[in-house]
Amino acid sequence: MENELTLEQIQDFKGKYPKQLWYLFLVEMWERFCFYGMRGVLTIFMADKMLGLSLSDKDANLKYGAIQAFVYAFTFIGGIFADKILGFKKSLLFGALVMIAGNIIIAVSPQQFFYLGITLSIIGTGFFKPNISSMVGDLYKEGDPRRDAGFGLFYSGINIGALLGGAVCVYLGTSKDYGWSYAFLSAAIVMIIGLVTFLFTKKSLGPIGNSPLLNLSSSKRTAREIAVYVGSLISIPLIFIMIKNTDYTDYFMYTIGPLAILYFLYETMKEKEIAAKKKLIAAFVFILFSIAFWAFFEQSGGSLALFAQDNLHHSLLTFKMNPNIINNTSNSLFVIIFSPLLGLVWLAMIKRKIEPNTVIKFGIGFLFLAAAFYIFYYTRFFAGADGKTSLNIFTIAYLVITFGELCLSPIGLSIMTKLSPKRLAGMMMGMWFLASAYGQYAGGLLGAGMSSPNENASLMEKLQSYTDGYKQLAIYALIAGLIMIVISPLIRKLMQEVK
Ligand code: GLN
Repeated sequence: MENELTLEQIQDFKGKYPKQLWYLFLVEMWERFCFYGMRGVLTIFMADKMLGLSLSDKDANLKYGAIQAFVYAFTFIGGIFADKILGFKKSLLFGALVMIAGNIIIAVSPQQFFYLGITLSIIGTGFFKPNISSMVGDLYKEGDPRRDAGFGLFYSGINIGALLGGAVCVYLGTSKDYGWSYAFLSAAIVMIIGLVTFLFTKKSLGPIGNSPLLNLSSSKRTAREIAVYVGSLISIPLIFIMIKNTDYTDYFMYTIGPLAILYFLYETMKEKEIAAKKKLIAAFVFILFSIAFWAFFEQSGGSLALFAQDNLHHSLLTFKMNPNIINNTSNSLFVIIFSPLLGLVWLAMIKRKIEPNTVIKFGIGFLFLAAAFYIFYYTRFFAGADGKTSLNIFTIAYLVITFGELCLSPIGLSIMTKLSPKRLAGMMMGMWFLASAYGQYAGGLLGAGMSSPNENASLMEKLQSYTDGYKQLAIYALIAGLIMIVISPLIRKLMQEVK
């Protein structure tokens, strides 16, 4: 039998990327297909009066925010269980299986089983998502300058999956020949491909992602693992109820954040090295700012999906195009195209010694976000009397928002792995995504606030209402970006040698 690779051998790779990164890239690509496919159809399925859940636009927005919030909130829990009991590999396997089950259940009868299936997707993603990103971090030695590029590539994988998922599932779901079942079924199928890919390649990860309890006897370890699996399955009815009733979602969100902060403080105090403590606090500041970023950015699955459905022309340049396909895919497409280019720009700046540090990059991310929302607002000046406006301008806003994302999101993943001590890697990655949960949650509230209160509002009124909201978001994003840039020297001190 071939010997297992050691961590040293893995981290001593030659060239730009370790080969294991490509495997993780593929696995995450399929998982994101599944996730973004589901996300792409979520709001329109819930608002569909014939074959969906017949929710009002406002309720669909709120529920969208709630579901997304739960998905990302569970990453925090999934991260902790990976650190303490399962290890990243087993978390990933369990998460993938539960996600597959969730999508198959919805596919059987979307109207009947939607909430049950989505509950499983939530639990599954929680165990999957943070832990695959943490494994990418483990491929690199501390201080290896190739780490950011690795996360950049991994981020392209995320977006290839998101692009395909968004396009295929929205197409299948909204097509008269197929329908919602096919959308969810396709998500399940690709997740199976992701799982099989992982099973075939996981040996190459050597000790990365193994159980943290290898010092225990195997019966004790297995007992704890089973307790985690059973505990997750027992929580199904609880999550099910909380999603069905968005009031409970509110209570959940009021509780999980403060609990996470208390737990973070507890672990930070437990940390013996003062230098490590400071790094954890710096990581926390990044996490806090990312909440605001995602709250605005995630309008894409909520209010922007409805805006795209109601208020946009169906033509891009000279092509006929469904605006919701643009809404769901242009961002990913732009990430795939521009992520490598931006990587080259950073590299050129490093050579000239003018590369902005991570904190400034975050600030710049917010400035792009502000510009993008100003453009979303500006679409109103291209609208006809029918309340429909230019898909071209809308697409330009997506181009700009993508640059914002690239300054913040892949760099955020990388910086989490640089600033976290090994024993807390899963938890910190989970916290990074928990910030997305709050972003999603706030995003849903913002979207609901922006939707016109009148169910029978004309398209013109809807347009005015959403674009007014986008202008507000542009202003807040600008303020956040400026604050980040102003406080950057302070955060850099906390980060010490980490760039
Ligand atoms: N688009 C990225 C992903 O799916 C980031 C999502 C997030 O953190 N909100 O991984």
